[in-house]
Amino acid sequence: MKTLTILGSTGSIGRQTLEVAKHLGLKVIALTAHGNIELLEKQKDEFKPETVVLSSEPDGEAKLIDIAKNSGADIIVTAISGMAGLAPTLAASETGKRIALANKEPLVCAGEQVMQAAKKHKTEIIPVDSEHSAIFQCLKNKSEVSGSQVSKLILTASGGPFRGKSREDLESITPEQALAHPNWNMGKKISIDSATLMNKGLELIEAMHLFGVSPDKIEVVIHPESIIHSMVEYTDGSTLAQLSVPDMRMPIQYALTYPERKPSLSAPLSLAKLGKLTFEEPDLDTFPCLRLAYQAAKLGQSACKILNKTNEKAVELFLSGKIRFLDIPKMIENAIYSDASSRV
Ligand code: NDP
Ligand code: MG
Repeated sequence: MKTLTILGSTGSIGRQTLEVAKHLGLKVIALTAHGNIELLEKQKDEFKPETVVLSSEPDGEAKLIDIAKNSGADIIVTAISGMAGLAPTLAASETGKRIALANKEPLVCAGEQVMQAAKKHKTEIIPVDSEHSAIFQCLKNKSEVSGSQVSKLILTASGGPFRGKSREDLESITPEQALAHPNWNMGKKISIDSATLMNKGLELIEAMHLFGVSPDKIEVVIHPESIIHSMVEYTDGSTLAQLSVPDMRMPIQYALTYPERKPSLSAPLSLAKLGKLTFEEPDLDTFPCLRLAYQAAKLGQSACKILNKTNEKAVELFLSGKIRFLDIPKMIENAIYSDASSRV
C-alpha cells in the first residue's frame, strides 16, 4: 500500500486528496495545516497519521520542512497555497520520492531550483493542476517536448467569473463577486487569480518548468465549459486533448496512481448532454495579468518572482478591501518594470 504525506491538508486540494486517499485505500502518514486546528484534529481522528504539524505554531515552519523531507511517505502532496509552500516544496524535491504537485507558486518563483533539486535526487514530480495533468496525460514522454515533435502546449482557461466583461464593469468588483467561480470551488487566493486570469499566467510559468518549454510555445485559449483541461499540438498538426468533468479529484487521483488508472469518484463525461464545447481568445486588455505573466516569463526568473510576490500581496490587499480589483495588475506591472529598469 502506498503512503501519503499531505502538506496543506485542510485546504481545498488537501481535503479532496483525503477523499481520494480514502477511496483508494492509501495510508496517510503525515498531515499539515496552518490555522485550521479544528479540521486538522478531525482529520487526525479519521486518518490516524503518525504526525501532524500546525505550521502557525512557533517552531511549526521548521517542523513543516522536516516533515516534507523526512516523513518517509511514497508520495508528498504539495497543497499549501502561495509562496509559503516554497521551502517545503524544495525539501520534498530532495526526497527521491514522488511529489504530487498542486502548489504552483513555488514553481513560478523558483522553478529552476525545484526542478534541478528533483532531477538531482531523482524525485518524480507529477502535476495535480488540471491543465498540467492534462498535458502530462497527452504526452507519451517528455522527450517529445524537448525534441521536435511538439509544436505547442495549449492551456485552456475557463475565463473566470468575469469573462466577457469590460474594464468599466470591473471597476467596482467586490471580493465576494470575485470569489464566486463558475466551475471550480477553490481556495481564496486561486479564486481571485482565476478572476484576474493571473492563475493562467502562473500556469504558463508552471508549464515552462514542468515540461521544459519556452513561453512562445505555450498558448492560452478560453474554454468556458472547463471540459477540455488542456492540449498538446504536435508538429504534424495533430492535437491531443484530455477531457473530463471539472472535478479536481480526477487529476489528484491520477498523480497518486500514475502510471495506473483506477475507478475514481468523478462522474464520467456525457458529451451528448453537453452538446457543444466553445472556445475564444483571451481578452488581454481587460485582463492584463495574463499578458504580464507572458512578459515576466520572457524576462526570466527574477521577473517571475516579482510577479508572483506582488500578485500575492495585491490579492491580500484586494481581499481585505484595501485596493480595487483593477489595481491588482497595476501593482504587478509597476513592480516588474521598476525592477527591470533598476537593472539596466
Ligand atoms: P486553500 O487556501 O484552500 O488551502 C491552503 C492550505 O495551505 C491549507 O491547508 C492552509 O492551512 C495551508 N496554509 C495556508 N497558509 C500557510 C502557510 N503560511 N504555511 C503553511 N501552510 C499554509 O488553497 P487551495 O487548496 O485552493 O490551493 C492550494 C494550492 O493548489 C495553490 O497553490 C493553488 O494554486 C493550487 N491549486 C488549487 C486548485 C483548487 O482547485 N483548489 C486547482 C489547482 C491548483 P489552514 O487551512 O489550516 O490555514
Ligand atoms: Mg489549473
